[in-house]
Amino acid sequence: MTAHITVGGPDLIQERRLVTEIPGPRSREILQRKESAVARSVGHTLPIVADAAGGGTLLDVDGNSFIDLGSGIAVTGVGNSNPRVVRAVREQLDRFTHTAFTVVPYESYIAVAEKLNEITPGNFAKRTALFNSGSEAVENAVKIARRATGRQAIVAFEHSFHGRTNLAMALTAKSAPYKQGFGPFAPEIYRVPGSYPYRDGGLTGPEAARQAIEQIENELGAESVAAIIIEPMQGEGGFIVPAEGFLPTLREWTERNGIVFIADEIQSGFARTGLWFAVDHEGVVPDLITMAKGIAGGLPLSAVTGRAELMDAAQVGGLGGTYGGNPIACAAALAAIESYEEDELLGRARRIGEILTGRFTELQKADPRIGQVRGRGAMIAVELVHPDTLSPDPALTARVVKYAHENGVILLACGTYGNVIRFLPPLTIEDQLLQEGIGIVAEGLARS
Ligand code: PMP
Repeated sequence: MTAHITVGGPDLIQERRLVTEIPGPRSREILQRKESAVARSVGHTLPIVADAAGGGTLLDVDGNSFIDLGSGIAVTGVGNSNPRVVRAVREQLDRFTHTAFTVVPYESYIAVAEKLNEITPGNFAKRTALFNSGSEAVENAVKIARRATGRQAIVAFEHSFHGRTNLAMALTAKSAPYKQGFGPFAPEIYRVPGSYPYRDGGLTGPEAARQAIEQIENELGAESVAAIIIEPMQGEGGFIVPAEGFLPTLREWTERNGIVFIADEIQSGFARTGLWFAVDHEGVVPDLITMAKGIAGGLPLSAVTGRAELMDAAQVGGLGGTYGGNPIACAAALAAIESYEEDELLGRARRIGEILTGRFTELQKADPRIGQVRGRGAMIAVELVHPDTLSPDPALTARVVKYAHENGVILLACGTYGNVIRFLPPLTIEDQLLQEGIGIVAEGLARS
C-alpha cells in the first residue's frame, strides 16, 4: 500500500529523474508479489511499478521519473490523466457507472457513434458499434463482413497483428508468443504477402498489391472472400509503411469484387500518424474501420464504424455485449476526441514525427546498423540490422531498449524479427523531453 496519492496529468514533474537503481526497492518488492500472484504469461516490458503519469512522464513507486516514449502502446495519445478526460469521467462516475447499453441506452454512446461516423473517412451513411478491446472490435468487424456478404473467407497479411482472442489470434501472423500452443485456430482465415518496402526487393505498391491479389484469386477465388483485413500501417509487425499505391490498388480490387475492406486502425488511428487515420494519407476509404487504443485516453473502449448497409446487415441482438460502450469509457472518448481537436494534437503528432525522423536520419548517416528510419507522425520506427547483410539484429535492439529502461526512458520494440525500435510518445510530450529521450536512445545505440 502506498501511503500517499501522487496526482498525475500534465502537472506531474516533466523531467527525467532517477533517484534509485532501476528497478528500485519498492518496485522489486511489488514485482515479487506479481510473480506469485499473476499468471507468468502476462509479461511486462519494464521492471518498474507505476505510481502516476501525465504529459510526457511516468513516475514509479520509488520516485523515479521516466520519459514516456510508449504511451501504454499508443493509448494515451492525449496524455495520461488528461484533464478533460479526468473531468468527464468524474462527472459520469457521479451519475451512473453502468446500465448495459443494450438494456437501457444512454446519450454518450450515441454521441461517440455520431462523432466516429463524422471523423472516419467516407462520405456515405455510416453506423458504429462499440466494444471493449481491440480484439473484440476485430472479431465484430469479421462477423459483420460475413453476415453482410454471405461469404466466409477472410484474408489477412504477413506481419499482421490483430489481437489475442481466438479469431483475432488466427488473423495474427506471428506464432511466438501469440499463437504457440493455443490452437486450434478459427477456420477460413488466409494469409498473403503485403508490402514491406525495406524487405520485399523494391516492389512498388501496385506490384505488391497485384502479388497479393493474384494469390487470393488463385487460391481462394475472389467470390469466396468476405473481407480483407489490413493495418494501413502495421504496428506490432514493425511499423511498416506500405509502398505508395499498395492500399489504393487493394481498395479498388475489393470494391470491384464485392469484398469488404476492413482497415484495422487500432494502433495507427486517432491522430497517431498526424492525420485522424493512417488510411487518410493515401485517401483510401475503407468499408469498415476498427478503432481502440487512442480513442478514450486510457479507458477501455473500441469501435467498428462503417457503411450503414454493412453495419445494419446483422440481426438485432447479434452485436453487443455487457460492457461494450461503457458510459465512463464513452465520457472519456468524447473528452479525448475534444482534446485531439481543441489541443491540435494532429499537428503535434506531425511535429513529433519531424523531430524523431530528423534526429534518427542524421544518426543513420554515421551508423549503418540503422537500416531504415520510417513511419508517420508520432508513429516512428528504426529498424536495426547487421550492416553487411541487412539481416535483422534483435540482440542489438534488446540492448538498446534495456539501456533506455535503465536510464529513465520507456521504450518499446516490435517487428516480426524483434529488431525494430518504435516510438509512440504521448502527443502531449514537450519537445525538450522528447529530445532528451532520443538522446538516451542514441547513447544506448552508441554504447551497444
Ligand atoms: N489490432 C492492432 C493493429 C493492434 O495493434 C492491437 C493491439 N496491439 C490489436 C488489434 C488488439 O487490441 P487489444 O489488445 O485491445 O485487444
